[in-house]
Amino acid sequence: MRTLIENVTIATMNAEKKIIKEGYMIFDENIIHEVGEGNYAGERNGVNVLDGKDRIMIPGLINAHTHSYANIVKGTTENVPLEIWMLYIMAEGKYMSRGDHEVSAALGGIEMLKSGTTTFLDHLAQDLEGLRVVANQYKKIGIRSVLTPMFGDRPYALSLPEEIDLGEMGGKPHGPSSSSAGNWKQLIEMVEDVVKNLLQPEKGISVAVGPSGAQRCSDELLIASMDLANKYNLPWHTHLLETKAQEVTAHRQFGKSMVAHLDHLGILNEKVSFAHGVWVSPEEIELIRARGASIVHNPASNLTLGSGILPMIPLKESGVNLALGTDGPNCSGFQSMFESMKLAAILSNTHTFDYTKWITAAEVLDMATRGSARAIGMSDKIGSIEPGKKADFVLLNSKVTNFVPLNNLVWQLVYGRADSAIDSVFVNGNKLVENGKVTSIDEESVYKEAVERGAFLMKKCQDDYGIIKRASPKLYDMLMRVAVQPTNRA
Ligand SMILES: [Zn+2]
Repeated sequence: MRTLIENVTIATMNAEKKIIKEGYMIFDENIIHEVGEGNYAGERNGVNVLDGKDRIMIPGLINAHTHSYANIVKGTTENVPLEIWMLYIMAEGKYMSRGDHEVSAALGGIEMLKSGTTTFLDHLAQDLEGLRVVANQYKKIGIRSVLTPMFGDRPYALSLPEEIDLGEMGGKPHGPSSSSAGNWKQLIEMVEDVVKNLLQPEKGISVAVGPSGAQRCSDELLIASMDLANKYNLPWHTHLLETKAQEVTAHRQFGKSMVAHLDHLGILNEKVSFAHGVWVSPEEIELIRARGASIVHNPASNLTLGSGILPMIPLKESGVNLALGTDGPNCSGFQSMFESMKLAAILSNTHTFDYTKWITAAEVLDMATRGSARAIGMSDKIGSIEPGKKADFVLLNSKVTNFVPLNNLVWQLVYGRADSAIDSVFVNGNKLVENGKVTSIDEESVYKEAVERGAFLMKKCQDDYGIIKRASPKLYDMLMRVAVQPTNRA
């Protein structure tokens, strides 16, 4: 059945970024059929009509980088940089059961839908069965996802700027708990199993190939992972140069920059999206642009972990596709794309005193919609309110302080942190958020289970937390040596 929403303000985010002050949109339980200005003059028989008075419609926001495991381990670290934080998450990952992942995924789905995100990339270090429970959760909730198995085959201790003895915890690669160092063939088979068993775009489940980071993977694994992405025509996603320590590591490990290394392996192309890229050099920016890869900016995470601020202005000026994400809530606090948009916009202003170059609100809204859609390989399906696109959209209440008076819609959307104005959220034409609640899942039962599972998990992690705290001074000394090294950052 078709539904007409009329008298509505629409930020279409089409190629012209057209704003319709008062217009209409017609959709069904799949796609958008018609978008127009003024009154709808066509047939109304058999059409469900909704009044969009005092409502603003935007495309569903697209979170191009997060990790669902993180929803159940929020707040377990504070004021530690990534290189130490990773030890915490690897310890937590070791003890998380499939049931923990299932409830953690549900928490993330609820959080994102309620803050206006309709599609997201879940970079998750799980094998087929672990990813299956997560995929089933997303299908039940109705949110669109890109399942991205995360894996590596080099011991963690070898992915740092200096060789450092971290005992047993330094010997594990960053990947599913079943994986062991050096076993790249087994990892590729696992990811191929995920593709064969879980890829169901018609049910909202896409798949991407997701090595954890170049420094955490053998060349064989990186090359084979891109071969797999090519075989099934999938996006390829990885962390890149999140910290200065990683920039230093790249030169030690590869004898060249990290992006130059990936290009040397022949795996830098338009399928690639990089989470972070905070420490890219001007030469790396040029390579990323020339090969058509994307950068996914995660400002809240970069600030929380003290990683640095993405050089967005040089990236934009070079023409690199820029997308936006939140990263996991254990390093960003909350998966709000509205928060990401605002941080991205205001942080760029610190890059240069030349205010004529500062990033605009329209540009960050573009990152959170069209830019992210391109980064996850879904430009033809989502990211704008246009006929033929999936009916994924958000209705915001315009009678709230954020929008009164309405002087500049896009600026107020971005700078006004408009997630508090969300009225309803639709995916595939289904209303999944109404009256502040997700309609497709019993939130209370998810919270109850998460409380129980979270407490049990924390108990299991305590000994490991103690081991990490005792090892931290070694990492501190290493990081202080890294801090004074020169950088080629843009
Ligand atoms: Zn991440």
